[in-house]
Amino acid sequence: MGRRQTLLEKFKQQMKAYKKKRMMKDNTPYMPEDGVVYVMDTMNPEKKIRVEVLKTKVKKHREIIESIACPVCNNPMHWDDIWEAFICEKHGKRAIYEIVNE
Ligand SMILES: [Zn+2]
Repeated sequence: MGRRQTLLEKFKQQMKAYKKKRMMKDNTPYMPEDGVVYVMDTMNPEKKIRVEVLKTKVKKHREIIESIACPVCNNPMHWDDIWEAFICEKHGKRAIYEIVNE
């Protein structure tokens, strides 16, 4: 009881919050309801670029973007789990486009 108990409780609460936060960190590229998707070039993060969605799939009742057109060369880009972004290697240097969530 007393202080020890309180610390343990505190720790448990922190763990719970941490787990919740981790679960909330979902990087799946979900399709926005209005279908308007923006990406940003990781090399130039200031600029928001609107992109064309080429393919989606439904997983667990949610629509996920599978492929978008590269804003530079129009090549279909696919999701990369490691980069957590869409990547184009067809126009010169590799371009990494992250989805902009608003
Ligand atoms: Zn490209």
